[in-house]
Amino acid sequence: MTDSQPARAYRPATTLVHGGTVRSNFDETTEALFLTSGFVYANAEQAEATFTGTEQHFQYSRFGNPTVAMLEQRLAQLEGAPACRVTATGMAAVHAAILSHVKAGDRVVASRALFGSCHWIVSTLLPRFGIQTEFVDGADLAGWRAALSRPANLVLLESPSNPMLEIVDLRAVSALAHAAGAIVVVDNVFATPLLQKPIELGADVVVYSLTKHSDGQGRVLGGAVLGSEKWINEVLQPYIRNTGPALSPFNAWLLLKGLETLALRVQAAQNSAGSLAAWLVRQPAVARVWYPTLVDFAQRQLAAAQMQGGGTLVTFELRGGKQAAFSLMNALRLILISNNLGDSKSLVTHPATTTHMRIGAAERAKLGITDGVIRFSVGLEDVEDLREDLAAGLAAIASAALPTPAAAG
Ligand SMILES: *Cc1c(COP(=O)(O)O)cnc(C)c1O
Repeated sequence: MTDSQPARAYRPATTLVHGGTVRSNFDETTEALFLTSGFVYANAEQAEATFTGTEQHFQYSRFGNPTVAMLEQRLAQLEGAPACRVTATGMAAVHAAILSHVKAGDRVVASRALFGSCHWIVSTLLPRFGIQTEFVDGADLAGWRAALSRPANLVLLESPSNPMLEIVDLRAVSALAHAAGAIVVVDNVFATPLLQKPIELGADVVVYSLTKHSDGQGRVLGGAVLGSEKWINEVLQPYIRNTGPALSPFNAWLLLKGLETLALRVQAAQNSAGSLAAWLVRQPAVARVWYPTLVDFAQRQLAAAQMQGGGTLVTFELRGGKQAAFSLMNALRLILISNNLGDSKSLVTHPATTTHMRIGAAERAKLGITDGVIRFSVGLEDVEDLREDLAAGLAAIASAALPTPAAAG
């Protein structure tokens, strides 16, 4: 295999196309798909040398695979992180990043506004193993300061958060966490590696669901963990090597192809998201809109200080609660109802009855997830078609609210 890595770091759009590419003896243009579970050795001595670590040779695809390694290299270069390991799903990445680092008696502090399964790991799974956990309101620095005034081992947070796009001050929380003895793990799915670089802002570990924008075309699941060479190799790698959340080489290959267009896709969807967010603000049926670059977004300055754009998700609240939300969603013809996000197809979800149903009404109230809230993942369709679809959805709320002729009669 020929390592065709550039001598210097390129800009993100270039890295997304070329980063990590290693060509085989056939000199293929595109990254080769090594759909193999195992590898063979020339002789017994080479096998021994591989296992003792004196020779670099692929051993087994649960530990490493050439196609998977190209994806890891590309993601590491894009993030500006020294090392990366990919996993079969985003949740496998979050789970491995946490469980590889903590043990019984440790303390984990997390922002309350987390992706549903991340919330379950912190609230339900970790305490079973004797790990203390505490949630704080991610936007409240005083809350972080109080929680991190005692020793801690790991901080988990999401910024912007799902679905209310709450911004956590990554620089300030990282400093507080480090002073408490904790590493900071940031779930950076909503920002994507293009719009926010948590490691530059002080975080230690960044996790992704590659299912979202990285594939971005609704085909495969995948996850990634990025951090220092030492932490990835000494803490994470033994955990994932022995517990087996390995990504399929086929899915890694699709993700390599997905990444080639990531910058184009995120830019286009973000342009539409910004335009539609500003338009939604002016619609009478809409009570509130959350989008990081909107003039009246409460954490706009913090978002601008740590993000390069508003992203591809818009959250809005309808005045008419659940009934209005369902009327709008059911009237959409182009925008699809799906709990996925970061796709080329625009998707809406009603968090209170789907992704955030299990956490219960009290926890939803703390997070601001009312029955009128809709999460809108903006895709790659023509923005005017999306606007017309939303307008039809909003019109349907108005007509559903009118008395029917019979009732009026
Ligand atoms: C989707 C998602 C995950 C989980 O990723 P999967 O690939 O579905 O396992 C974790 N965090 C956030 C913010 C997500 O959007």
